[in-house]
Amino acid sequence: MKAAIFYGAGDIRVEERPTPKIGPREVLVKVKAAGICGSDLHSYRLSPKLPEGRMFGHECSGEVVEVGKDVDRISVGERVGLEPLVGCGDCLYCLSGNYHLCPSLRHIPAFVEYQKFPQEKAFKLPDHVSCKEASTLDCIAVAVHAANLSGLKGGETAVVLGAGTIGLLMMQVLKAFGAGAVYETGKYDFQVKLAKELGADAAINVEKENLLERIKALTGAEKTGGQEMPLGVDHVYEAIGGPKNQLEDALRVVRRGGTITVIGDPKNPLKLSSFVMREIKIIGSSSYAYRGREPEFKVALDLLSRGKVNAQKIITHAFPLERIKEAFDVASDKGTGCIKVIIEA
Ligand SMILES: [Zn+2]
Ligand SMILES: [Zn+2]
Repeated sequence: MKAAIFYGAGDIRVEERPTPKIGPREVLVKVKAAGICGSDLHSYRLSPKLPEGRMFGHECSGEVVEVGKDVDRISVGERVGLEPLVGCGDCLYCLSGNYHLCPSLRHIPAFVEYQKFPQEKAFKLPDHVSCKEASTLDCIAVAVHAANLSGLKGGETAVVLGAGTIGLLMMQVLKAFGAGAVYETGKYDFQVKLAKELGADAAINVEKENLLERIKALTGAEKTGGQEMPLGVDHVYEAIGGPKNQLEDALRVVRRGGTITVIGDPKNPLKLSSFVMREIKIIGSSSYAYRGREPEFKVALDLLSRGKVNAQKIITHAFPLERIKEAFDVASDKGTGCIKVIIEA
């Protein structure tokens, strides 16, 4: 079969690899759609975080072409969304349903023609959900997890920093979970436009508008130390990452006693003292696992299936596996107007 192999920054090659052989409780899937994640892009652009000479990617969906002898929930021909996270199954975190915190957590590679999955990681898709949309389930689940961790309650207000794939899904998940007003920031007009289209109560282009003034107008203002600051929102979700000062922004737009949930791996240092006086809670959110007994991946599929989350509009570009390098080049350049770029078979 064909597989994309990562050799280092800017170097991806499509090569032949053996088709995986399944075990008794595994299914073999023909990959129909696989999304390029921010973390894949990070490796592609900068110093490689991934080991070289390896298959990579992790967001995919497809059609089951073979099942192991003990597989009882899925049949050949069914279409499935695929959860890529696999823990060791044996550590404190795996045994308590928090496998996303497993020290040996691994991702099942997605940029391949065929891939094998344990049957419990394959979620049957309803007829009206396309494989293309289902390739974003991993990202939706990331947003579901962040919403769960933040403790969001119905009617509470939020700012989502960032209008890339995760930011746009985050905003929709918050709405689906009963949030009150949700405001979203973006750097490009096409992001801000889409945020509004997908349901943001306000979308702010931080390159053109003053974030503080907009949030002040939306939430009201308070005097603090002679300065007029926004009253702020109950929750801020950071979905940008990188070297920009988004945590500074988060602190300025969150209300006293509010929470900042960080998804995007920010690189900037922050003075911890700035959290103390206003009792701001900061929460790190990574991947997903369970909410109670329910897999968050399944919650994500439910939201997609019920039309609570629109993934179709977020997928802006699709390329065949043979052109994966081109796909990565497009995904690396926001000037192309891309949000989610996928590989499609
Ligand atoms: Zn991802
Ligand atoms: Zn483990």
